[in-house]
Amino acid sequence: MTLLYTCKHCGTEIGKLRPQMLDLEKIGWNVLSTEEKNKLMNYQQNQTVTLQSICEDCQHLLDQNPQYHELDYFIQ
Ligand SMILES: [Zn+2]
Repeated sequence: MTLLYTCKHCGTEIGKLRPQMLDLEKIGWNVLSTEEKNKLMNYQQNQTVTLQSICEDCQHLLDQNPQYHELDYFIQ
């Protein structure tokens, strides 16, 4: 399987993981949403599972502009 991390704000591909074994701590299992956990639990062999995260650019932007966090919630 391939884990594909994309930024939920700008859609940038952050990184790919092809774990031989699924290390739940390494992929950030604790911070995944229930929906993402379900996707992982139901993955097929050779399937790409997309996980949403935040890229460095957006993280930096949010750090500089804390009010964007509120905007993000508003959009969702
Ligand atoms: Zn981003």
